[in-house]
Amino acid sequence: MHSNLVQQITTQLETAFGIPRRQEPGKPLDSLILTILSQSTNDRNRDAAYRQLVEQFPDWETLMNAPVEQVARAIRTAGLSNQKSARIQEALRWIYSTYHTFDLAFLCDMEPQQVIDTFMQLKGVGIKTISVVLMVTCGVDIFPVDTHVHRICKRLGLVPEKAGAEKTHHLMQPLVPKGKAYSLHMNFLKLGRTICKAQKPACRLCPISNLCPSAKME
Ligand code: SF4
Repeated sequence: MHSNLVQQITTQLETAFGIPRRQEPGKPLDSLILTILSQSTNDRNRDAAYRQLVEQFPDWETLMNAPVEQVARAIRTAGLSNQKSARIQEALRWIYSTYHTFDLAFLCDMEPQQVIDTFMQLKGVGIKTISVVLMVTCGVDIFPVDTHVHRICKRLGLVPEKAGAEKTHHLMQPLVPKGKAYSLHMNFLKLGRTICKAQKPACRLCPISNLCPSAKME
């Protein structure tokens, strides 16, 4: 049964890497913008771009109404800055026209599925992005599937090789032990960044190699 396997994977990763501590939850909109900035870059570049946004645009309204080129210049360090600047401004416009506020604290009181369905109407906000917001800022027990998590789930045989990220999201939710979505997500990120890299996974160093059908131990 895959759910027993995921339980064992979760436990072994917690033994190897520890139980990840939750950080300060922050605000949903900050988390949404950070997640848009984080696409295809590392945390350092994402945070540098975010700092620039905060420094150059004193509030969300100013950022929403700024020339898109100016926003792109501010977030250059995060890469894909033309695409990301347009997405950020689109997101802000949609949020403001839908909710008439930039304070999205109320999202945490909504049904998570309703939040997902609503925000997935927004271009550039996929199920991963909104799941991260729900997990990080609302403390929802949801398991976001980013590029590392997706790759590892496939290598572990938890989802079919051809499953896309969204399908993997749906297949994984019932398999993750209750209350462990944050732990498993964060430990998969750590595993994906350090050992189970896209190119040449270092299976000999992997704390879950005994559970992995893709393990190459030579
Ligand atoms: S054994 Fe190798 S392929 Fe499997 S999860 Fe570990 S590093 Fe990835």
